[in-house]
Amino acid sequence: MKFFKSVKFRLTVWYLIVMSILLFIFAAVSYFTLYRNLYDNLDDNLENRWIKLRGLLRESKDKVDIDMERELGEIILIYSPEGILQKSSGPFTDTSDIVPVVQEVAQGNPLFFNTTTTYDREIRFYAAPVTVEETSLVVLIGRHFDEIKIILGRLRTIFTLSGLAMLFLAGIGGLFLANRVLRPVDRITRTAQKIGESNLSHRIEIDSEDELGRLSLTLNRMIARLEDAFRRQQQFAADASHELRTPLSVIQAEATLALSKDRKIEDYRETLETISQEAAYMSSIIDKLLFLARSDTRQEQYSSEKVNLRELITDLAINIETLAQEKGLKLEVGTIENLVVRGDKDRLKQLLFNLLENAIKYTMVGKISISAVRKDKMAVVTIADTGIGIPPQDLPHIFERFWRVDKTRSRENGGTGLGLAIAQEIAEAHGGKIKVESELNKGSTFSVILPISPDISESSGKKKIKRKKKQLKNI
Ligand code: ADP
Repeated sequence: MKFFKSVKFRLTVWYLIVMSILLFIFAAVSYFTLYRNLYDNLDDNLENRWIKLRGLLRESKDKVDIDMERELGEIILIYSPEGILQKSSGPFTDTSDIVPVVQEVAQGNPLFFNTTTTYDREIRFYAAPVTVEETSLVVLIGRHFDEIKIILGRLRTIFTLSGLAMLFLAGIGGLFLANRVLRPVDRITRTAQKIGESNLSHRIEIDSEDELGRLSLTLNRMIARLEDAFRRQQQFAADASHELRTPLSVIQAEATLALSKDRKIEDYRETLETISQEAAYMSSIIDKLLFLARSDTRQEQYSSEKVNLRELITDLAINIETLAQEKGLKLEVGTIENLVVRGDKDRLKQLLFNLLENAIKYTMVGKISISAVRKDKMAVVTIADTGIGIPPQDLPHIFERFWRVDKTRSRENGGTGLGLAIAQEIAEAHGGKIKVESELNKGSTFSVILPISPDISESSGKKKIKRKKKQLKNI
């Protein structure tokens, strides 16, 4: 059953169908060409013989010994208006069905016709009128054409048998070829199965540059992506549990210590404050993880409104300035062009807040500057600091979840290692991206690039509404 559903079987069937059609066309064309040629030859021959006989009749004034003149296998009949005048000897005796034909031919219409002899052999006649010495005669000359029928019959048998034999051989050949061509597919399937079952680091061997080679390459790339996603998933789960275990251990240790003996009220207060801080830290990690999980499964809902970046940055700058001043840092607001993007205002605020918060966290002295300008059709918001910078080897990873250059320092600052991952997630959800440049001990510059298309999106929004109205009318 499996075999009948296989590509091999289907390919062979298609191959046989095409082959049968071609063979049939070939046989039919050959057969009918030969058929026509044989009958045309017979007719030409009868006509030529008839012309010769007419000459003889005219020369000898109808006193021709037709038995002498007829060739082997020929039957000659000569009719006058009174009836049959001469008939060549031979077993052809019954002439009754010829009389109506003779009458028609006598009107001046020569013709070919077939008739059957009394001994059941088919005979083909050419009949035409001749005038000899003012007597109107009709001369018929005929020949059996059994040979033609036999030849055509044999040809039919040959075509049928050889056709069937060819189809049989083509079927076996087709199956063999399909098997050969598709063998690498079986190999690919087996390897892919093994990869799925055992380990994602295996790859399919590529030994050709054809379609199957390209299929293997595509599968290998897909497996590589899966492996990467799987590895990151595992890493993420390990990191997440580790991150949550640390504050939990602190809470547990603090509680156990506080309960081990009676303590002063201030000690209890201190313990509860630590527990509260750790719980808040855990809660912030869980919130961020939930956001990322929702983004991964496309469950996070982003609103789509017009967001004026100048207003958003001005609002943020007021909050951030206090944070910066607490650390003795200066917040410099550079050129802020009047830019409008389409998106979720709160999320965009969170994105910029994360970057500004990091800039303050990782800058000890100096300033933090922010600017927003238009470049082509993009809004570019730049947040630069004069902080500790990021080592070049860490730069490609800083947007990964839980990646921190200095775990302890980040933890002390309340960092979770998720801020940049969230910022990137938000930027990408708005069709944008974040670029970073950094030099160790000199500072870092983060650029958020977002598409600005308020007019286009506005008009496309109107178009959408128009389309919807149209659709509603059509219902
Ligand atoms: P965290 O909560 O630890 O700040 P983030 O995802 O926001 O996590 O940042 C990841 C890491 O990237 C940080 O731990 C820090 O090492 C580095 N980083 C981010 N922003 C800056 C910056 N402005 N200056 C220096 N290092 C930074």
